[in-house]
Amino acid sequence: MYERYRVKPETKIDLNEWDPADRSAFDGEKAAGRDATKKLNKQLESLQELLYAEGKHKVLIVLQAMDTGGKDGTIRHVFDGVNPQGVKVASFKRPTPEELAHDYLWRIHKHTPGRGEIAIFNRSHYEDVLVVRVHNLVAEAIWQRRYDQINAFEQMLAEEGTTILKFYLHIDKAEQKERLQARLDEPDKNWKFAKGDLAERAIWPQYQEAYEVVLSRTSTPHAPWFIIPANRKWYRNLVISQILVDTLEGLDMRYPQAEEGLDEIVIE
Ligand code: ATP
Ligand code: MG
Repeated sequence: MYERYRVKPETKIDLNEWDPADRSAFDGEKAAGRDATKKLNKQLESLQELLYAEGKHKVLIVLQAMDTGGKDGTIRHVFDGVNPQGVKVASFKRPTPEELAHDYLWRIHKHTPGRGEIAIFNRSHYEDVLVVRVHNLVAEAIWQRRYDQINAFEQMLAEEGTTILKFYLHIDKAEQKERLQARLDEPDKNWKFAKGDLAERAIWPQYQEAYEVVLSRTSTPHAPWFIIPANRKWYRNLVISQILVDTLEGLDMRYPQAEEGLDEIVIE
């Protein structure tokens, strides 16, 4: 249903051809979309419980977006009500000196999911070819190698039993303006406003280009990217929820075999 948002491996992506306000895959308005998401959320709750009980599969979800793109909101809405025991969120900020002293995947690897777990990455190793590329934080020869390294890393995770889904939340510059303005206007949102975000906004085209290279070079059969139209929050939540539910259903999970003789037990 939402296959149209999957980036086929080795396809050159031009983000101008992807409408951030698209909602063509759903036949309904906002209210209906929200209802549909609520139903999917119930399904996700059960599927996650099954994943945890079976203790076999590992699921990694990567969220990337420009500032205000909706990473936090996605986590809050899509995973609303899901048992926090089996879901771990890792947020990757500017690396610490200790992290910088290691290779860039060092801090990432220890947050990948174990059996029965879902790990959600709020930003990820992709920052090392996004912000790092845009600001030349390391030499070009170094970041250029990283696309292949990342593909190899993700392939290893997949071969070891990790299901990987990567979502790029696609908003446009006008939508970012509105969301930044709201952070200024609403006192409860002031804390989210970082003056530094304006400097990043000023180099929007460079970031879009860096994202295009990521999407073109690192969407693989075992770790696909999805370009999610994210100007409308309800649509973004709906599409991501559906892709997650479809993927988890595809894992064909089973509850573990119960111990024998349970039907004869009488609890005194
Ligand atoms: P919010 O959207 O709520 O503001 P955030 O994810 O932007 O959340 P911040 O603390 O505002 O969180 O920003 C984290 C910053 O860390 C981002 O500017 C990001 O580009 C930066 N960052 C993340 N990983 C790296 C990295 N490997 N190298 C350099 N900077 C990084
Ligand atoms: Mg920020």
